[in-house]
Amino acid sequence: QAKAAGGNCVRVFQQALRRRTEARLLMLERLREALKEERLQLHYQLQYALEAEPRPVGMEALLRWHDGERGAVSPTEFIGLAEEYGLIGAITHWVLERACRDNLALIRSGLLDVPVAVNICGSTFLREDFLSLIGDSLARTGLPGSRLELEITERVAVSNLDDAVQIINSLRASDVVVSMDDFGTGYSSLGSIKQLPFDRLKIDRSFIAGLPNDAVDQAIVRAAVQVAASLDITVVAEGIETVEQLECLRAAGCDHGQGYWLARPMPLEQLQALLRSGQAANS
Ligand code: C2E
Ligand code: MG
Ligand code: MG
Ligand code: MG
Repeated sequence: QAKAAGGNCVRVFQQALRRRTEARLLMLERLREALKEERLQLHYQLQYALEAEPRPVGMEALLRWHDGERGAVSPTEFIGLAEEYGLIGAITHWVLERACRDNLALIRSGLLDVPVAVNICGSTFLREDFLSLIGDSLARTGLPGSRLELEITERVAVSNLDDAVQIINSLRASDVVVSMDDFGTGYSSLGSIKQLPFDRLKIDRSFIAGLPNDAVDQAIVRAAVQVAASLDITVVAEGIETVEQLECLRAAGCDHGQGYWLARPMPLEQLQALLRSGQAANS
């Protein structure tokens, strides 16, 4: 009887698994359609130099998908799906093209002249033709390399150290800015970070959340600021939600910041309106 019950469990489990896979495949098809029909969108979130008068120094492109049935789907959900089923190449291609064109329009309008940061996931970064994907996007759109930034997570860079060093050096040779995203979540040794020629280090927002009171988060932020200073690179805090966090980061010597307190991610038209109004920061 126990065996029969066990068999039953397996069957229920298999059914649940099949339903989950079916739901994911359905979502994948809808994503593929959305990409084809140009229904994916980019939002841009400004990054600021944390001076007395915060000044925009960069912006991050963040992918948005509003599905007719499911509503807004988080990129953390659908990017993983796209990676798993080989759709990420086409998506990254689209994101790069859109971000480069939008940034070129911003620069030409005279409203803002900063690099646009595009998130690159592991499977894309390690592709044989990654460098030509970037080179082609720049050539096709006419955006100067210095106005494109690529964000690569600490985890991906460190897990393929030798390849990562080479790829980052090649990118930097064409003036592309390269940032380490989600710093502090990858459990990498300082020794491996030292070998990676990043231009910027972005402190993961999980460590900003506890500021200004959490002593451990304070210590982590101070350590990150010191690591960046000794490597002579820029340190960026993400996920700044309050003025107290902003002031704490400023006092700790953090160079740049990004977060809802400063500016939310928004469509290009809204960003242009914000820049035109001159009210580009909260404080
Ligand atoms: P990320 O690269 O670490 O991006 C920062 C995330 O923090 C974004 O979430 C942004 O909306 C959010 N954020 C910004 N300020 C605040 C704040 O003050 N408070 C809080 N709670 N959150 C804040 P989002 O847009 O949901 O993106 C999540 C992740 O999805 C990104 O993390 C990135 O890893 C990935 N992603 C987004 N767009 C793309 C893309 O075009 N390509 C790839 N490969 N990944 C992407
Ligand atoms: Mg990022
Ligand atoms: Mg990040
Ligand atoms: Mg993050």
